[in-house]
Amino acid sequence: MILIDGKKIAAELREELRQEVVELKAKHNKIPGLTVILIGDMAPSQIYVRMKEKAANEVGLKSEVIRYPEAVEEKIVLDKIEELNKDESISGILVQLPLPKHIDKQKVIETILPGKDVDGFHPMNVGNLSSGYESSVPCTPLGCYLMIKKIEPNLTGKKAVMIGRSNLNGKPMAQLLLKENCTVTITHSKTKDLKAECLEADIIVAAVGIPELVKADWVKKDAIVIDVGINKTDNGIVGDVAFDEVSKVARALTPVPGGVGPMTIACLLKNTIECFKRSQK
Ligand code: NAP
Repeated sequence: MILIDGKKIAAELREELRQEVVELKAKHNKIPGLTVILIGDMAPSQIYVRMKEKAANEVGLKSEVIRYPEAVEEKIVLDKIEELNKDESISGILVQLPLPKHIDKQKVIETILPGKDVDGFHPMNVGNLSSGYESSVPCTPLGCYLMIKKIEPNLTGKKAVMIGRSNLNGKPMAQLLLKENCTVTITHSKTKDLKAECLEADIIVAAVGIPELVKADWVKKDAIVIDVGINKTDNGIVGDVAFDEVSKVARALTPVPGGVGPMTIACLLKNTIECFKRSQK
């Protein structure tokens, strides 16, 4: 079984991006800039933002975090986004989710200029992705996609099953694999026989949020299994896949932690650089 080492693949990607930033600086005499807006003091968001900032600095991006208290007015955040939209030194804007209840998430997403939307959540980017045009792609599915391609460069004709249909994971993941000529099934909480669907799959991407939902007898021999889930349990953090048993049947599997997580952050940096390059065309 191949253990898909997300940490290692992410470190390689960051090194490629670091070199690319050096080249872009030489060519354009400026570097891509990423601004993250963080509202409130929820511990997981604080940790994610710190990791994103560290990784951005490591590859040489200009990076900035703007912090607001939990009670900040929505208008202040929207005005700041408008200001960042106009700032040519900023290539990418990310508003860390989740947001406090009084702030309209969709309004925030739609205020970010699609060309600076490094999360790929703006409806324009969602539409471009599903139409097969150039777009920002949400960081987590992009990271999963890059790992799958490392294991199997030619995906044509493969059967891929997404478990979960969120805008963040399942849907964009399906679009990426469809573009690679996979036959894609998107499953969700109302799917009648999830096990039977999974048993058909050459590729399973589990993004559900249920600890160890995917068991060994759900997985076809030699399938590639990508575990997006992050679940806190009494035994620590586990994914949506029962790692020990599935590792005995799968051809390749991501661990949790150390699989999808590091790739998500590296792909945010990749998206920032892609936004910069598109803005220079
Ligand atoms: P979400 O928005 O809550 O979506 C979960 C999806 O799973 C929904 O489509 C839901 O179906 C489906 N589902 C729920 N129970 C199911 C069941 N019994 N059988 C089949 N499908 C079922 O979650 P998300 O934001 O996509 O995140 C999913 C997981 O990934 C979470 O554990 C999250 O923490 C993790 N995550 C990890 C990363 C990373 O970087 N590693 C990034 C993002 C998220 P319905 O649509 O019918 O409700």
